[in-house]
Amino acid sequence: MTASADRLKPRGKAAAKAPAKRRRRKPDPIKAWVRRLDRTRPGLVRDTLDGLATIHGHPEWQRRLDPTSELILTILTQNTADVNAEKAFEALRATYPSGLPRVAHQPGAGWGGVGLSEGAPPDWDAVAHAPLPELVDVIRPGGLAPQKAPRIQATLLRILAERGDYSLEFLGAMAPLDARAWLTSIDGIGRKTASVLLLFSFDHPLMPVDRHVERVSKRIGLIPAKATADDAHELYLAMLDPGDVHEAHVNLIRHGRVVCHAQRPSCELCPVRGRCRFVDPKAP
Ligand code: SF4
Repeated sequence: MTASADRLKPRGKAAAKAPAKRRRRKPDPIKAWVRRLDRTRPGLVRDTLDGLATIHGHPEWQRRLDPTSELILTILTQNTADVNAEKAFEALRATYPSGLPRVAHQPGAGWGGVGLSEGAPPDWDAVAHAPLPELVDVIRPGGLAPQKAPRIQATLLRILAERGDYSLEFLGAMAPLDARAWLTSIDGIGRKTASVLLLFSFDHPLMPVDRHVERVSKRIGLIPAKATADDAHELYLAMLDPGDVHEAHVNLIRHGRVVCHAQRPSCELCPVRGRCRFVDPKAP
């Protein structure tokens, strides 16, 4: 060592102090997955969306219902078929009429029911304050009524307590993730329910991940096999351009319903089969 280099060495207390170890930050697993997918399977998201559009088209976004109706209808769909949720929603309208103007339901692409008849939203105040056993009976056609009735009342009462009425139109002016956080702070409202409401009422680019979206995505290899539904929401937010979210959600659901069935998927009809890891574990 030269004399001048020696002068630069710390002396005394400073010399005794061990150099601070640099802590390595844990990599964000969402970003790590997206980077890995880009590197190892470039173009997979785009090819999947383009492939699905060849048989399912480019669905146009259209508001289906006012946001409070959308939220309650989505709670009614939890763990039941959309068609049964429609029956329960119609029963709410008939039992608790609001007298508001009648509106048409635009079920649109991705909805699995037959569509609600034209009608007014229920009187939400009457639903929120109905005797619980009565409400359970009213929504029984939707299934799981003893769980859903108190959830619906708690949700409506929370909206009333925070906003002074039952309207959720204010969510349209919020940033999408803030609006989602507001909704998921309500007991029983998860990311999927919140994302359905925000996507279909306001075209907020949030990706609802239901069982069809999750199954098709895992088979293709868009998301890791062990990803939870909550992980999948975040992965899609990182992988998709905002303008692609509605189409991706709707077409993955359609694909899961008509081609990529849970049992015996019709892979011979699938435009994505060349890139699907269910068909070929080494697919590019
Ligand atoms: S190839 Fe088969 S498993 Fe893969 S997405 Fe298409 S239908 Fe589903």
